Amino acid sequence: MLQGKVALVTGASRGIGRAIALSFAREGAKVIINYNGNQEKALGVKKEIEQHGGNAEIYACNVSDETSVKEMFDFIQKEYGTIDILVNNAGITKDGLILKMSEEEFQSVMDINLKGTFFCAKYASKQMMKQRSGRIINMSSVVGVVGNAGQVNYSASKAGIIGFTKSLAKELGSRQVTVNAIAPGYIDTDMTKQLPEAIKERILETIPMKRIGKPEDIAEACVFLASKKADYITGQVLGINGGMA
Ligand code: NAP
Repeated sequence: MLQGKVALVTGASRGIGRAIALSFAREGAKVIINYNGNQEKALGVKKEIEQHGGNAEIYACNVSDETSVKEMFDFIQKEYGTIDILVNNAGITKDGLILKMSEEEFQSVMDINLKGTFFCAKYASKQMMKQRSGRIINMSSVVGVVGNAGQVNYSASKAGIIGFTKSLAKELGSRQVTVNAIAPGYIDTDMTKQLPEAIKERILETIPMKRIGKPEDIAEACVFLASKKADYITGQVLGINGGMA
């Protein structure tokens, strides 16, 4: 479905980003696997893609640093000459109740989750507007829609991504560039593995489908949104959460 397309997936060394990179490559895309520090994992994803006959490259870049993001897009331009798909997936949590939350804990989550999305979308938009085609998919979260105690920083960043997505969709629509968000529920990755068992049990009770999501549940929706089949879908937020919200 994505034959020959050039796709950048941020935070693709692990978890949901890794699954998206693997699915995109399976569908024929050339994938740039962005990561922050975990080179070994990123190389593992590249190797897995190549073993299945796919095309992938890794690129280390902290998405909250504009200079590094610009360099990453310069690299993509030089190596591939285009960018067709951007998935803004890189994200972190620094959970805590508001009274104990430091400015750093608030700011760093906003910087990586929201500002990182802004920087990558900005440089991708430049190229996509010129070529009058493109797909931007931003990773929000169910907690950006319904909120969650202990996550004012994270849920604010993910709610911000929803407003960002809807606005950018309006800016880029006339150039045939679509911009959508996915709001995953509770997905089994390193991010959720760190939660205490009691909290995991409580979350599970709120999921009508009574199972935790898999990274692949998110990746398959990304393939669809990135494909020709989703040509007329823009400015939307797709909840993938087993019925949680
Ligand atoms: P994860 O397993 O913790 O992986 C995070 C990824 O982001 C890693 O590849 C990491 O790279 C990368 N990353 C972190 N900081 C970065 C930075 N400054 N610049 C570039 N890359 C950076 O997370 P996940 O669970 O797969 O989550 C992926 C996305 O889905 C996030 O945006 C998250 O908020 C969202 N989400 C997840 C869930 C869930 O239940 N898991 C639910 C809703 C939304 P390194 O390996 O190099 O550190």
